[in-house]
Formats: sequence, C-alpha cells, structure tokens
Amino acid sequence: MQRKISIFGATGSIGTNTLDLIRRDSGAYNVVALSGAGNIDLLAKTAIEFRAEIAVTAYEDRLEDLRAALQGSGIEAAAGANAIAEAAARPVDWGMSAIVGAAGLRTSMALAEHGGILALANKESMVCAGDLLLSQCAEHGTTLLPVDSEHSALFQAMNGENRKALRRLILTASGGPFKDFTVEQMRPVTPEQAVKHPKWDMGQRISIDSASMFNKALEVIEAKYLFSCSPNQIEVVVHPQAIVHSMVEYIDNSIIAHMGSPDMRGAIGYALSWPERAENPIERLNFAELGDLSFSRPDETKFPALRLAREALGMGGHAGAIFNAAKEAALDAFIGRRIGFLDMATLVEKTLYNAHLEPTRDSVQSSVSEIFSADAEARRIVDALI
Ligand code: NAD
Ligand code: MG
Repeated sequence: MQRKISIFGATGSIGTNTLDLIRRDSGAYNVVALSGAGNIDLLAKTAIEFRAEIAVTAYEDRLEDLRAALQGSGIEAAAGANAIAEAAARPVDWGMSAIVGAAGLRTSMALAEHGGILALANKESMVCAGDLLLSQCAEHGTTLLPVDSEHSALFQAMNGENRKALRRLILTASGGPFKDFTVEQMRPVTPEQAVKHPKWDMGQRISIDSASMFNKALEVIEAKYLFSCSPNQIEVVVHPQAIVHSMVEYIDNSIIAHMGSPDMRGAIGYALSWPERAENPIERLNFAELGDLSFSRPDETKFPALRLAREALGMGGHAGAIFNAAKEAALDAFIGRRIGFLDMATLVEKTLYNAHLEPTRDSVQSSVSEIFSADAEARRIVDALI
C-alpha cells in the first residue's frame, strides 16, 4: 500500500533532498501536499512530477502565478500561511516539516495531529514551542523523528538504550567558515562569506546561523526538549570534519557515536525508512582514507550564541521563542546589510533581557498564539534596537 506523505518547505534544501529520496521509490508514495514560497516554478514542477493533491505557496500574491503554472494538471493551488496550515491538516502517514524559521511552527503542530510520523527538520518548532509540540504528539500518538543531523544521530545512538543510563549528549559542530577567525576578523564579514559552509550544503539562513554558531545554539535547545534532559547534560564540541554527527555518553562511560558522510539524505532517509533501515545514495565512509578526526572546545567568547542559548534554557517558558525570533530578526538585518555579523549576538542578548519581555519570558508555554505574541514582541524590540 502506498504511504501518504506531505512535504512542507518542499522547494528548499531539506525539501528537495527529501524529494530526491522519494523519487527513487516513487511508486511507494502518494504525495498529498507540497509547499513552497517564492519559487513558484519549482513548486509547480515538483507538484506535477509527484502528482500532489495540492500545492501551496506562502505568498498570497503569488496564487495566480501558481494557478497558471499548474493549469491543466488537476492539482489544487492555494496560498498564504492559513492555507499551508490547512494543507498540513490533511491526513498523512508521514509529514516532513521543513519550512525555515518560526513560520514552520503551525505546520509542525498540524502534522503532529495525524498520529503517524512527523519528520522534524524545522528545529525552530522545538526551540519555540518544545513543550507544546511534544504534548501534541503525545496526545495524538504521533511519532516525532528528528531530521536535524545531530539529533537524528543522538536518536540513533539511543536506540534500545535505557534513557535513565544516559549521562551526556555531545553535539558536534563543524565550527563553520570562521572557526579560526579572531573576533576582529569576524567583525567585517559579509553574508556572502558567512553563507559558505565548509561541510554542509544547506539553505542560506541555516548556513549563516552555522557561521555564527546560532545554529548550534538552537540545536542545544532542540536537544533539551527532544530528549528531555537538563541543559547541563548537553555539551557542544567542535569537530571540523563533520563525520561524527553527535554522541551519547552513558553512566558506564561508554560513548556511542553516529558517523556518516555530511549529507542530509542520511538523516532524512532514516526518518523515511524508520523503524527499518534502507539503502540510500550517500557516500560511504572509507576509514583508511578519512584522515584525522579532531575535536575541540568551542570558544564562547568568539561565539556568544552558545552561552545565550543556555541562558534562554535557564529561563524556560517563552524564552526559546524570544531567543529564536530575536535571532531571526537579527539575521534578516545582517542579510539586509543593516548590521554587522557580531551585532547579531548583541541584539539577541539585549532582546532576551529586555524588560518588556519579562512577563512572557518566565511563563509556561500554553498556546501557539502566545508563542507568536512573544515572537512578534521580540522582533519589534530588535527592530527598535537597530
Ligand atoms: P531553505 O531556505 O533551503 O528552504 C526553506 C523552505 O521553506 C523553502 O521551501 C521555502 O520556500 C519555504 N519558506 C521560506 N519561508 C517561508 C515562510 N515564511 N512560510 C512558508 N514557507 C516558507 O531551508 P532549509 O535549509 O531546507 O531548512 C529548512 C529547515 O530545516 C530549517 O528549519 C532548518 O533549520 C532545518 N535544517 C536544515 C538543514 C539543511 O541541511 N538544510 C539541516 C538541519 C536542519
Ligand atoms: Mg544540525
């Protein structure tokens, strides 16, 4: 029987990698919904190729373009954030949440209602609303499988283990393009330099977040919720070769590491075939030719994002949403050349401690709309600070 699937963020880096795997065994899947944003041609082309039921663009003013591109195909066209959420509510067995940013939260929440598998690439959902998303999954019997490579690695290293024996999660970070830069060398870097990740081929925003280590900061928060451990059980280690995708240490001092080529189709494929394993097209590791694998402590004075993530975790409640929204707004400003690279961390820190956010910062996560209010307030504060 065909498996019903939907992919949100289908035109992005994770989305196209997911479709690459689906394409290799397309008879096994029945594609329900695909979403994208400005890349209408690719969205329509993909929807036609995979005979999706519906294609949705995030941009309401692109609906006519999408309709025109889908003309004669019989595929429904829709547009806007509500339409994406409605498409995500269509029942599927497997749903990929791969929209970038907090904009993906509603999709993750809707996919978590189906009782099937939620493949979660959108780490921002966990960072902003980990408590809500996990209880949504629990309520509906949905299995959440992390697609972020580190979290997929951790998940795999915990297979069959007793969580009570877990001592420490060790997240690896490649260190990004500025690993060996001084603070002064980082100050003038441009978005074009920051986007050039040495190991992973990813979307623009996550690539720049990797350069500032805000990506790893989000991943620390993501790990805390996903594996319900305490923040001091999570360690980050710089591993430039990006072969060890993360490790779990147990109370008997054993460490289980997950290794593989830096190719997201590994983690996506695992989520697609789970609980089985399936062959995939990624490059195999050849240890005789790998050379050295090295590990070092991240420099938190050069990369304050990691410290800020721990501070946000200490606050709990809406602090993750505030942290993420401030980071997104600061990243927009950096990409728009309104601020420098180092200003991003300064803005996030100021926003996290802004008095206006005091009431929301400490409260428990009670609803997605409250999360979005905290998110909007944080973005307003960042804009006022610039
Ligand atoms: P991307 O920029 O390549 O693609 C983003 C997708 O989201 C596109 O389909 C785009 O059309 C859509 N989109 C953008 N803004 C939107 C909006 N406001 N509303 C609805 N849709 C919108 O990003 P990506 O690198 O594929 O990352 C997607 C998610 O996966 C992010 O949360 C990222 O952190 C996570 N992730 C990515 C990688 C990777 O290798 N790319 C690895 C781990 C985790
Ligand atoms: Mg990652």
